[in-house]
Amino acid sequence: MTAPLTDGLRPVDVLTVVAVADVTPSVRRVVLSGSSAAVALAGPTVNLLVPRVRDPAPDWPRVAKDGRIVWPQGSHGVALRSYTARRQDPGAGEVEIDFVLHGDGPAAAWAAAAVPGAPLGVAGGAALGARPAAHLLLAGDETALPAISRILGEAAPTTTGTALVEVAGPHEEQPLTAPAGVSVRWLHRGDVAPGESTLLADAVAALDRPVGDDVFAWVGAESATVRAIRADLRGRWGLGRAQHHAIGYWRRGRAMAPAG
Ligand SMILES: Cc1cc2nc3c(=O)[nH]c(=O)nc-3n(C[C@H](O)[C@H](O)[C@H](O)COP(=O)(O)OP(=O)(O)OC[C@H]3O[C@@H](n4cnc5c(N)ncnc54)[C@H](O)[C@@H]3O)c2cc1C
Repeated sequence: MTAPLTDGLRPVDVLTVVAVADVTPSVRRVVLSGSSAAVALAGPTVNLLVPRVRDPAPDWPRVAKDGRIVWPQGSHGVALRSYTARRQDPGAGEVEIDFVLHGDGPAAAWAAAAVPGAPLGVAGGAALGARPAAHLLLAGDETALPAISRILGEAAPTTTGTALVEVAGPHEEQPLTAPAGVSVRWLHRGDVAPGESTLLADAVAALDRPVGDDVFAWVGAESATVRAIRADLRGRWGLGRAQHHAIGYWRRGRAMAPAG
C-alpha cells in the first residue's frame, strides 16, 4: 500500500481487476478493487500506470513527496495515461473505468486483454474541471462519456443546456441520466475515422449563445476538435476562463505520453 520508504518515495497504489464487460462494441468497462483510500484518490480523472499486457508483476514507478512520479531505470513497460473513473465507491473499494478500444496504444491494448486478477497502477487523481452553472454545454466523444455522465449526474435538477456526444453510431450510444432541461444529442460520425470528423465542432458552432453569464462549457475530445470548439466558445460565445474547461483528451496520430 502506501507505507513511506526511507528514500522518501512511496509505492504507487495498485488496483486489481475484478470484472470486465463490454458496454458497447468499442467501450470496455473494467471494474477494479483496492483499498478505500486508493479508490477515493482514483478519480474523477485518474493517472493510470498501465503495465504491459499480461504482465503480472510490473516494475512500478514510485511517487515523491511532491507527487512527482519517479520511474525505474531502464525498460519498465509501464505507460502513464489519463482516464476517468466513471464510478468510485470507496466504501466498497471499487472503481469503474470505461476504456475506448481504439485499436492502438498501451492502455487500449491492456483493456482489450484485461482479465480478473490483472494489476493496474494509480498515480493520483484530479477534478473534472466542471463547475455548476444554470446553463451547461457539454461536448465530447466516447473518451469523454464517463466525464459527461458524471457531470450530468451531479448537475442540479434545474440545470438547462445541451450535451453533445460524438460516437460512431447508434450502437455506441450509452444511457445518460440528465436534468430534464438538458437535451442530450448523439452525433454519429459513421465511417469517418475518430478525430477526423467536424461533427462536434459544427454542432457547437450551430448553437446560439445562451442568455446571461451563468454559463459553463465543458469539452473533452480529440485535440484539434477541442481547439476549434474552444476558439468558438471564447470568441463567439465570449466565455471567460472561469466559464469553460476544454481539454484535448487524445491526439490523432500521437501517443499521449511515452511508454517506458
Ligand atoms: C483527463 C482525461 C480523461 C480521459 N478519460 C478517458 C476515459 O475515461 N476513457 C477513455 O477511453 N479515454 C479517456 N481519455 C483519453 C485517453 O487518455 C487517450 O485516448 C489515450 O491516448 C489512450 O492511451 P493509449 O495508450 O490507448 O493510446 P496512445 O498510446 O496514447 O495512442 C496510440 C495511438 O492511438 C490513437 N488514439 C488514442 N486515443 C484514441 C481514440 N479514442 N480513438 C482513436 N484513436 C486514438 C492516438 O492518436 C495514437 O495514434 C482521457 C484523457 C484525458 C486527458
